[in-house]
Amino acid sequence: MEISGLKPSQLGQPANEKDAKELELMEEMTRNTDSFQEKVLSEILSQNAKTEYLERFGLNGATDRETFKSKVPIVTYEDLQPYIHRIFNGDRSPIFCSLPISEFLTSSGTSAGERKLMPIVQEELERRQKVSNLLVSILNLYVAGLDKGKGLYFYFIKAETRTPGGLPARPVLTSYYNSDHFKNQPKNPYKVITSPIEAILCLDSFQSMYIQMLCGLLNRLEVLRLGAVFASGLIRAIKFFQLNWKQLASDVSPGTLDPRITDEGLRIVMSSILKPSPELASFIVKECQGEKWKGIITRIWPNTKYLEVIVTGAMAQYVPILEFYSAGLPMACTVYASSECFFGVNLKPLSKPSEVSYTILPNMAYFEFLPCNNSSSRLVDLTDVLVGEEYELVVTTYSGLCRYRVGDILRVTGFHNSAPQFKFIRRKDVLLSIDSDKTNEAELQTAIESASELLFEFNTTVVEYTSHADTKTISGHYVIYWELMVMDPFNPPSEEILDRCCLAMEESLNSVYRQGRVSDHSIGALEIRVVKNGTFEELMDYAISRGASINQYKVPRCVTFPPMMELLDTRVISTHFSPGLPHWSPERRPTLPGK
Ligand code: AMP
Repeated sequence: MEISGLKPSQLGQPANEKDAKELELMEEMTRNTDSFQEKVLSEILSQNAKTEYLERFGLNGATDRETFKSKVPIVTYEDLQPYIHRIFNGDRSPIFCSLPISEFLTSSGTSAGERKLMPIVQEELERRQKVSNLLVSILNLYVAGLDKGKGLYFYFIKAETRTPGGLPARPVLTSYYNSDHFKNQPKNPYKVITSPIEAILCLDSFQSMYIQMLCGLLNRLEVLRLGAVFASGLIRAIKFFQLNWKQLASDVSPGTLDPRITDEGLRIVMSSILKPSPELASFIVKECQGEKWKGIITRIWPNTKYLEVIVTGAMAQYVPILEFYSAGLPMACTVYASSECFFGVNLKPLSKPSEVSYTILPNMAYFEFLPCNNSSSRLVDLTDVLVGEEYELVVTTYSGLCRYRVGDILRVTGFHNSAPQFKFIRRKDVLLSIDSDKTNEAELQTAIESASELLFEFNTTVVEYTSHADTKTISGHYVIYWELMVMDPFNPPSEEILDRCCLAMEESLNSVYRQGRVSDHSIGALEIRVVKNGTFEELMDYAISRGASINQYKVPRCVTFPPMMELLDTRVISTHFSPGLPHWSPERRPTLPGK
């Protein structure tokens, strides 16, 4: 059916003229994926032809794929770190990019325990910002009337630092929320949100959350969609509501503001919004006083049509709890992006979390794919990937990353026109993750070693260990299973020592983990569960009974399979929690980057 003369797109019926244009561009890009890719590579290579990095490989101005692929190597962050270190320290010469570096984006990925730093150019940020209109147009295909209400989104920024060279270093979303594009966007009925910009930009996470929640409550009947960037953030918001509903209701009733809101800007904004609302306050009390949280989202915000939140990848673990809170509302995962690059969008945003596929945007960067099956190490182009195969994503960006391994493993699920669609499978090498933290096997091993030092004087060693990211608790936390060998039964490690082992592990984990514990409060205290001797033998027997080879058996360093968890949990003899918070400060460790 055509609406008021608007031509239906292959993706669906656009809601308005603006959407029709956005969808038409998407159609054009996905119909001509390969030529867009060729053009993007050629633009990047000509723009950056005179950079130190590209000159090093003797491209001599060539901008074609063959020359590029034959001369430029595939790299990881660590390979680029010496260059990044120079930019960090103020070298303004064209190292990766002919355009000036405007800031560093701090990724949640780490290298040597610190966040990775991505030098970025302004033009690249603007290219990414344009995608927000496309996302609105796609959602409008599936949900009607989004211009008739508001979005309740919990958005936060983090403290930014300055590099010795004077550039800001901050997470990508902090950069976005601080940009003119976000702060001064023209009024658009499809993008109205309940949170005042002052609340989003408030660095104090309690005050920011309190005001965003309060405004969400005041607008509760107008809220049509509700979300956060990642599922972990939305869960944190619900937990905040569970803990603070009484205070929120007692502010709402007389129209006053909790004295803990000390930020002058927030108090001024709220003075024009808050009015006495005793009915709303009684409603909140009625819904919450039994502390029954099933369906709380739809009870408080009954007109919510869907949750907008990423629940793919490491966030999939939160799907059941979000279903519980939202009485099964659809969860729209709209984008797949990173500090390095904007990758793709979900053309069917209301699909089930397990069925979400992202369509790579061929105008964002030049994309290559490293096959995960070992038979070939040749990278393939975007249009040459095969359905069903898994690949590691490799990008060449306008900011100057060339053939950079992102570390994400994707599986091809199909094509939209000639653009492939991918399911996010996993992050390479990530064992444990609660929020944006990513802990790999080597980091876990080092943390275990560091904690075990406390056991030396008790003649005790950790003979085996495994781990689990427990997201049943809020906040989620790392659980480490230890089997100990206590040589001297008359002098075993005390409760206090084992508690301290938890903290020692946390001190050893990377800065994103420690920030989650200390500043974001998104991760709970690490727990060690000591299991009785012989438990890991039993675990092996179990794995073998299920077909594992004795010769090749390795203790899994992370367990998620319920029967294995049950086996471990029924053998626990004591549990221990970190008694304090590990150290963390927004400053980078002085030895890094570049060491
Ligand atoms: P960062 O560099 O901190 O922005 O993190 C980017 C990483 O987050 C990506 O490389 C992915 O591993 C993960 N990520 C981003 N978007 C998604 C998504 N939609 N689904 C699953 N994982 C995602």
